[in-house]
Order: sequence, then C-alpha cells, then structure tokens
Amino acid sequence: MASEFNGKKILVLGAAISGISVARILRGLGAAVTLSDAKTADQLKHDTAGLAAAGVELALGRQDESLLDGTDILVLSPGISIYIPLVAAAQSRGIAVISEIEVAYRLAKAPIVAITGTNGKTTTTTLTGEILAAAGKKTKVGGNIGQALSAEVQGVEQGGVIVAEISSFQLEGAATFRPHIAAILNLTPDHIDRHRDLAGYQAAKERIFANQTGEDYLILNFDDPAVRGMAARAPSQVVYFSRTVRLPAGVFVADGNIRLIWQGETIDICPLATLRIPGAHNVENALAACAAAYFAGARPQAMAAVLASFPGVEHRIEPVETINGVTWYNDSKATNPESSIKALEAFPAHIILIAGGRDKNTDLGEFMSLARDKVDHLILLGEAAARFAAAAERHGVKNIHHVADLAAAVALARTLARPPQLVLLSPACASYDQFNNYEERGRIFKDLVRRLS
Ligand code: ADP
Repeated sequence: MASEFNGKKILVLGAAISGISVARILRGLGAAVTLSDAKTADQLKHDTAGLAAAGVELALGRQDESLLDGTDILVLSPGISIYIPLVAAAQSRGIAVISEIEVAYRLAKAPIVAITGTNGKTTTTTLTGEILAAAGKKTKVGGNIGQALSAEVQGVEQGGVIVAEISSFQLEGAATFRPHIAAILNLTPDHIDRHRDLAGYQAAKERIFANQTGEDYLILNFDDPAVRGMAARAPSQVVYFSRTVRLPAGVFVADGNIRLIWQGETIDICPLATLRIPGAHNVENALAACAAAYFAGARPQAMAAVLASFPGVEHRIEPVETINGVTWYNDSKATNPESSIKALEAFPAHIILIAGGRDKNTDLGEFMSLARDKVDHLILLGEAAARFAAAAERHGVKNIHHVADLAAAVALARTLARPPQLVLLSPACASYDQFNNYEERGRIFKDLVRRLS
C-alpha cells in the first residue's frame, strides 16, 4: 500500500536528530521533502551532508514564508515550538501541521506505549522497554531518547511493541496520535515559558490520551493531584499507580511489595527492597513501568527480574565505583535543585556532595535544608559556588569547600571520604559553564573516579 505521504510536498522544520531522520524517511516514502532550520549548516550540531544525496532539499539559515509555497504538510521536530510565526502562517494557509511523533504513529504497525510527565520519563521508558524485552516481546524504545520515533517504528511488526518517551513539546501537533497505553508520571510547573502557562502545559500533556478509546489504557499517578484529576477527561480505561495509597485496583505498594490488582487478578510482583534503582522517585517509576508492561503483555516474572537487575539510566544516580568501601555516584543529569533533592532523599545520610555549575537562580531553601541533615561535606564548583555557599551557610550546612573544577572536587572528595560515607555528584546546576552538556560532565566525572581506583 502506498504511504499517505507519497507524492506530497513536505516541509520539515528543525535539523537535529528527529528532523533529519524524519526527512529521510518521508523522502524514502516518496514525498518531496525540504528540511529547514534557522541555523546555517556551520551552526548545526548534526551532519546534514548525506541528505542532499538522499534527495532531501536543504533550506538552512532561513525560515521565511516562501518555504511554505506549494507545501502540503509541515512537520515539526520536537525542538520547534508550535508558536513560531512560520507555523501560524502555515495554519492560515490551510497547511496541515503535524509533529514528528504523529508521523511515527501513522507509520507504526505495532501498538505504542507512550510515557510522559515532567520527570522520570527516560527512566520509566527504559525500564518498560527492558521488561517487555525480558518478557520476550519484540520491543523498540524511542522518542525523546536517542533515535527518533519515526525511525524506531519502522522495524517493528504487528506482534511487537513500541515504547516511546514523549515530551509535551512533541504532543503539540499530535493530531491523531493514539497510543494503546499511555502513562503520565507527574506534572510540575516546568517548561512554562514555551507552553505559556500551566494550563497550556497540562493541555499539551493531555493530548497523549485525547485520541484513546475504551480499548486503550491510561496509567496515571494517583499521588499527583493534577495527574489524578485527568481521569475525568479520559476516554480510555484508567489505571492508577500509587506509592502512598493502597488502591482497590492498579499498581501500588502494599506490605513492602509492589502489588498489582486488575480485574480479579492480584499479583505481588516483588519486594520493594529488591529494586536496584534507589529513591522514592524511582519506586514511582517502577510502579508505572510495571503497569505499562502488564497491559502490553508482560508477566510479573519479567518485571521482578528486571527490577532486581536494572542499574538505572546513565547520569541518574548512577553507581560508578566502590573504592575502599566508599561508593561514588554520578547524578550529572540533576541540573536543578528539585532533581538533586531526589538524589539526597535516595540516601539515608553521610553524603559527600559535589554541586555547582551554571546557576539557574532557582530557590535553594529546600535543597540546603535537606543538605544540612544528610551532607557531611559540600564541595562547590562553578559559577554558582558563591550563591550556593551563602545559601548553605544560612541553612546550617557544615563543611563547605570551594574547588576550581571537577578534577579538584574528585581529588578532595577522595581525601575526605570514609565509610559509611558516599560521594555524590549531583550539581543542581546546568553544566555549560565548564562543559558542553551534562553527559560530558558525567563522563568526565566517571573517568576521574575510575582513575582513582
Ligand atoms: P526525564 O526523562 O523526564 O528528564 P529521567 O528519568 O531522565 O527523567 O530523570 C531525570 C531526573 O528527574 C532524575 O535524576 C531525578 O532527579 C528526577 N526524577 C526521576 N524520576 C522522577 C519521578 N518519578 N518523580 C520526580 N522526579 C523524578
């Protein structure tokens, strides 16, 4: 059957991983494709060289309205806001505006498990994918993680399953997108700048279930009031998960176990104590992943096996090494205080904390109060050091140290740390003052630690 994109003139906006990938795929399906980015070829991080040879036209360094002439469909990369003038111009010309995940959905043959929320998306998506793979399902994981979803869906036949991490940005422009299973983990005021206000952000998240029907499942966090309330607008079967409440049905914690109750079936999946990923936030991610995997066909044995062995995703409270009884953790992904709070909460006490970087100027009160109770030594670096030190002193944090860079922080932590202490890099800051991104910061930290041992 010829694809609905065959013979269409399509403009793809945004020349990063997803945009480049979807342009290539649409060209392969017989569309006439132009890929445009406001950046010039030199400014782009990704290589567009092969695209011309594949027959994709490039329009780089400009975003003028003439690009729309003759265009049937405008495809938005996840990084492009639906509020830019070019999108408004396209809409007023009657051009269909769709996002990259909408393209993926239209090409997919297998059911989609779509996971969104403010925090925990990558961890929950990865975990769900691992459980389904362990259960013997042909599984592909994509979306916001690594590969573009439109590329991932192509290799999966009907019996398989596609697990997708979905950001709220990608849900703008998801016109007919209908995941068989959708999960919403939590909703906190993040990314408000782009969605204009919390209502707009929430509305974008709710698009994940807008096209579902009674045959589909919507997994919601019972403990998050905004998420719990979405049930009222769900056209699908709502499945709650809860870390704090024993539910009549759903997935929750009971007697120290992860318990699932659904349509007369009660299963104790595993004791919480066997979870390898640390922290209460990761319990929530595990509950959501079990629920998603269950409705995608996994049995509890696969869930228990994966939860006992899954070490977490790189840069998220990732254990690096244990040296002389002291374990070192890389939590470079914690680029704001809320994330670092989750990391501090994941350990009982005796933390040697390395923090700082590019300051986001967010409130430090809760973070430093927690640090007072849990942190034995606070090692600060980067542009934020002075403000962090002042806040730490105000909240009674002991043993505050200043260092020039990450190498000095690791060296100092090494001289300070004794069991039962642990060393945690959880910066609560962006990385851009001293690194290209948080991944680079985390990898350099891990190299420094491994060289100690
Ligand atoms: P995302 O993909 O949504 O950014 P990740 O799984 O990469 O989420 O986790 C990023 C950070 O968010 C973690 O380091 C942790 O601090 C925090 N986090 C993870 N899961 C949750 C959760 N369920 N609730 C609150 N915070 C979380």
